[in-house]
Amino acid sequence: NTPATPAHREHTAASGADLPAPAAVEVSGAHKWYGPHHVLDGIDLTVPAGQVTAVLGPSGSGKSTLLRAVNHLEKLDAGHVRVNGELIGVRRQGSRLRELAPRAIRAQRARIGFVFQGFNLFPHLTAVENVAAAPVATGRRTRAQAQERARELLAGVGLGDKGDAYPRQLSGGQQQRVAIARALALEPGVILFDEPTSALDPELVGEVLAVISALAEGGTTLIVVTHETGFAREVADDVVFLDGGRIVEQGPPEQVLVDPVHERTREFLSRVL
Ligand code: ADP
Ligand code: MG
Repeated sequence: NTPATPAHREHTAASGADLPAPAAVEVSGAHKWYGPHHVLDGIDLTVPAGQVTAVLGPSGSGKSTLLRAVNHLEKLDAGHVRVNGELIGVRRQGSRLRELAPRAIRAQRARIGFVFQGFNLFPHLTAVENVAAAPVATGRRTRAQAQERARELLAGVGLGDKGDAYPRQLSGGQQQRVAIARALALEPGVILFDEPTSALDPELVGEVLAVISALAEGGTTLIVVTHETGFAREVADDVVFLDGGRIVEQGPPEQVLVDPVHERTREFLSRVL
């Protein structure tokens, strides 16, 4: 994984203005406890639309909990999340936040893609059926439309010839690319990746990172939890280093990954690099 030159996309040039892009994801004052364990300890994080944020940090630092809080798979004890300006999982009632009905939460989740470490494909469905399942279940598309779109999305991740294969007939890298196509099928405003290459054999990591890089180039908003520092350096606009449920360090990749300020970050990088 040779670090390449930072290839940051030029948002301001494209929009012709110096205004920052609007926030796609905004996490404010997020706290989460598991019993006495303070797993998220006051997280504030803003991801502008079209940008890529890489989240690094040691095991147990709260990375998965943070991602899961963004789509309300995990309920925050304090603070809130907005995606494209909309409160996630809750609504305001006077000064309090009340949880939304399950149906409303499902509708919000459908606009937030999530790709897990372990692929989580339906084993009894083909690649096309896996990708088409949610758009059909949510009534967004007919089965025929969804399957046609699924074949296009699979072609887009280099699996144009694997549409009729079952997960067990695919390599880990191919399965993860099906999972990415499945996330894209709902045309999400943001895609969350939780260590998308950690379960892969080393020789399969590159093909999955290439697909994620292509999404980044295409302007999809991404939050990627990863230990792949070369990838983060090349693709991320912003790198966040999490430790003990707090953001210890945040900034452009060439700063956080190459010249970190904090001892904890240095120590972590010396272990993963
Ligand atoms: P990371 O993804 O950075 O490895 P996690 O967000 O998965 O960290 O977990 C943060 C901490 O919260 C860990 O100490 C973990 O053991 C704990 N934890 C995570 N999920 C639960 C849960 N459902 N119940 C109790 N503790 C949990
Ligand atoms: Mg995790």
